Amino acid sequence: MIVIMRSNAPQSSLDRVIATIKQNHLRPHVSEGAERVIIGIIGDDRQINAQLLECLPDVEAVVPVLTPFKLASREFHPEPLLIRLDNDVVIGGNELTIMAGPCAVESREILDTTAQAVHQAGASILRGGVFKPRTSPYSFQGLGEQALDWLAAVGKSHHMPIITEVMAPDQVQKVADKADILQIGARNMQNFNLLEAVGETRRPILLKRGPSATLDEWLLAAEYILARGNEQVMLCERGLRSFDRKYTRNVLDVSAVPVLKSLTHLPVIVDPSHAVGKWEWITAVSRAAIAAGADGLIVEVHPQPEIALSDGRQSLLPKRFDSLMVEVDRIARAVGRSVRVDRHQTVPEFVPAEVLS
Ligand code: PEP
Ligand code: MN
Repeated sequence: MIVIMRSNAPQSSLDRVIATIKQNHLRPHVSEGAERVIIGIIGDDRQINAQLLECLPDVEAVVPVLTPFKLASREFHPEPLLIRLDNDVVIGGNELTIMAGPCAVESREILDTTAQAVHQAGASILRGGVFKPRTSPYSFQGLGEQALDWLAAVGKSHHMPIITEVMAPDQVQKVADKADILQIGARNMQNFNLLEAVGETRRPILLKRGPSATLDEWLLAAEYILARGNEQVMLCERGLRSFDRKYTRNVLDVSAVPVLKSLTHLPVIVDPSHAVGKWEWITAVSRAAIAAGADGLIVEVHPQPEIALSDGRQSLLPKRFDSLMVEVDRIARAVGRSVRVDRHQTVPEFVPAEVLS
């Protein structure tokens, strides 16, 4: 249930509602919008009588929340969430946020070259995996804490906040000490202990969609993080597993973007790299994502994809990433948004990524 207060309801009326919720052994969640305050009721709200709340002063309406997730729902939180990071990066606003970098941090030099290139092209956040979830135990597993230090140092030197994946609860604290955003990978979307552990931090979380998760399952996974008090969660669509894996790695669910926008206030990011799995299709799919209303992209870029230790096949060369940024900015403007411009160089000439040799 949510309690919608009249506009300009005084604090004393809010306090009465909050006290009544607490007396019924439930938890109030106050969301202050531009117009009015909405108080969500967390817990099994069948225990509370809606009429009791309706009779309190300045209560305009008491309405049931129809979705299984509450803190993640638009009903609880009608205004879109803005996540603010260092370097004036705001995720979820009118400007799109582009995160880019290698799949895995392999060496400080490769990371530095990549960071320099993606920053120049207009990316505002540097990505790089240090703990890698690999299908095979024999594949490269990431360089761990050494790589985290390189990521932090390189991010700092290019004035870019950093994002990296955490795979286990015992990694959370050390990664949260150094990374600006913690990523929960697709394979861990329903690792509830891990979700609770990142929910205890106050770092923004990028929660990837599980390869076969429904939207409700995904939003309930977000709810685990929100319920622990970490309100800064963004969702990342990265493609679903389907029957035809010959040409693309996964199937990007573009329709998830507008549906999520209607269901939740959380920003929606699209990962075209893991969705399609081949660099050729990444620009086209990125255009679609932005046209559909995504708040940003997370893209894999590598200066020498042929020697990459993971996901080289889907990694864009820096020049192709430049071209992607130009195209995405055009689509963004067509839908009333823009790519955050932080470039110190002139916009490169447009060349379709597919024809660059
Ligand atoms: C990644 O971002 O490198 C990654 C492993 O992604 P996903 O969890 O979507 O497979
Ligand atoms: Mn990858």
